[in-house]
Amino acid sequence: MKLHAASTPDLSHLLKELGNMTALRDTFLVEQSLLRTLCPLLGITKSCLYRVDNKGAIMRILHHARAPGHDHAPHSLDHVEEFPQEQDIPALTRELLDSIRVLGQHCVRALDGNFLIGFPLYGNGELRGYFVFQRDHKTSASENAIVRGILDVFTNYYDLLDNSQRDQLTGLLNRYSLETNLDRIWSLLAQRLQDNSGKDSRRTALPHTYWLGVLDIDFFKKINDTHGHIIGDEVLIMTARLLEQSFRQSDLLYRFGGEEFIAIIAANDLESATRSFERARKTVEEFLFPQIGHVTISGGFCGADTLVPPQEVIHRADSALYAAKAAGRNRIYHYDTLVHTGVLKEVQSGAIDLF
Ligand code: GH3
Ligand code: MG
Ligand code: MG
Repeated sequence: MKLHAASTPDLSHLLKELGNMTALRDTFLVEQSLLRTLCPLLGITKSCLYRVDNKGAIMRILHHARAPGHDHAPHSLDHVEEFPQEQDIPALTRELLDSIRVLGQHCVRALDGNFLIGFPLYGNGELRGYFVFQRDHKTSASENAIVRGILDVFTNYYDLLDNSQRDQLTGLLNRYSLETNLDRIWSLLAQRLQDNSGKDSRRTALPHTYWLGVLDIDFFKKINDTHGHIIGDEVLIMTARLLEQSFRQSDLLYRFGGEEFIAIIAANDLESATRSFERARKTVEEFLFPQIGHVTISGGFCGADTLVPPQEVIHRADSALYAAKAAGRNRIYHYDTLVHTGVLKEVQSGAIDLF
């Protein structure tokens, strides 16, 4: 579709694109599809989608570019920047985003004979991000209305999808989300590690390694049996909050099963990964749960080696968790250490079917 400032949008084509977008069941693909819909509509070949967290900090940028003349995926070169450093975002873009946030509407800046144009992305009345692109002329009033409309359809649909990836009780990402995204998380981790190799990590602040931990509340059945299911639910919610506070915002935290959680965290080495998981364990141990008193968790973790299938990494962490339970609970074990010390036998490749 070619729509430039003065032309009228091809309505049937636009509706078809929106139909395509809302047929997708994956939040990442929906974001890609949004940019693939908007770029040809605006006669541009590059655009960015900035995502912000609930405090307004930028947590992800999806960069989209396509070869001129091709509207669809095989020709698009997209890449994702997770948790970009503030100083890596060009000053003019930062300033544009600030203005959009303050004014609550689309804004324009002159840039090298072009225009840098950005629109806010709202969901449930809250700012969720920005759609940004460059063009040699400003947007017309009708283009603005169309872009705003598409962004609204997008955020409403995105929220629906996002809800299906969240656990209703704790609000954490759910097991379905982990299962559907695990392969992509693995390739993202591999990409980040590759981007990082050869760079001075003190300068880039990028971690060298990622770690996956399985955490499980100790004697949770007894809490349910003694205090009832409702109090049990409160313990689950509270534990989820404590774990969230203990890990970094950039770490991924899932409710994997009843009283079981999976955390995928960034840490430069075994020592610092151990510290992070220990901090989580201690945070729960020290908290005084109303009516219950103290509750503990056990865990097992291992390096998120991107050359090992993710299901196998989960299985390794799970066997370390099992050893932690057997050793008396309220402790977190590292899988490779258990293998090296002969406590565990190495998990054989390909022998597991977790999902
Ligand atoms: P261990 O220390 O070995 O982990 O013992 P445990 O009692 O924590 O483990 P077990 O697997 O025996 O019991 C888990 C319990 O979690 C059983 C189940 O009823 C309860 N459970 C699972 N999902 C929920 C939930 O959503 N809410 C509540 N209240 N309980 C749940
Ligand atoms: Mg348990
Ligand atoms: Mg359990």
